[in-house]
Amino acid sequence: MKTIGLIGGMSWESSIEYYRIINETTKEKLGGLHSAKSLMLTVDFAEIEKLQHENKWDEAAQILIRCAQDLERGGADFIVLCTNTMHKLADQIIANINIPFLHIADATAKKIVSANIKRIGLLGTRFTMEHDFYKGRLIDSFGLDVVIPKESDRGIVHRVIYDELVQGKVLASSREEYKRIIKDLIAQGAEGIILGCTEIELLVKDGDSSVPLFPTTLIHAVSAVEEALGD
Ligand code: GLU
Repeated sequence: MKTIGLIGGMSWESSIEYYRIINETTKEKLGGLHSAKSLMLTVDFAEIEKLQHENKWDEAAQILIRCAQDLERGGADFIVLCTNTMHKLADQIIANINIPFLHIADATAKKIVSANIKRIGLLGTRFTMEHDFYKGRLIDSFGLDVVIPKESDRGIVHRVIYDELVQGKVLASSREEYKRIIKDLIAQGAEGIILGCTEIELLVKDGDSSVPLFPTTLIHAVSAVEEALGD
């Protein structure tokens, strides 16, 4: 079994889900008393969030590169970055480590492609919905067609993540807003929806959408176990 190196804390509300899913999945697959071999290094999200909103991505990259290198030195066999947004810095991290990096968008896109879905809705932080690092990868590497919410709804999705979900607040009123925004993406032809922020699946569940949901924490954590077990 390989050792999974997790970079967490963005936010810890979803990192704890990664840890739970990784161990539950390992137990399901191997039975008995089996659990996952893993290391998790978690950051102070306040520092990261400040750098994101001040557009200081290179400084944030330095923090995450150091985390990945520490995990590598600690014995991790591959890296799992437990956030969609910070995959904006994936290339910089990959360039500074000698072990593989399991990309969250790749793991998710493979599921979408195998479900025969072509046009996909994307919910996440503004950075994930608007910058090119995530959408571009889905389009260029997997031939998907990506739909995002309109400007005012992107503001709502982003605000709920930072003001509520990463602070452990799961509100029914926000779930209703997300359901409305999902409906709108479906009206634009989305055949499935990526919950492209690792906390969204704490709020939105399968019954909240008439098309399949692609919860990135679950997908990424299960694919980490598959990688660890060589499935
Ligand atoms: N966990 C979130 C994500 O998957 C947002 C927090 C962050 O900015 O890293 O994008």
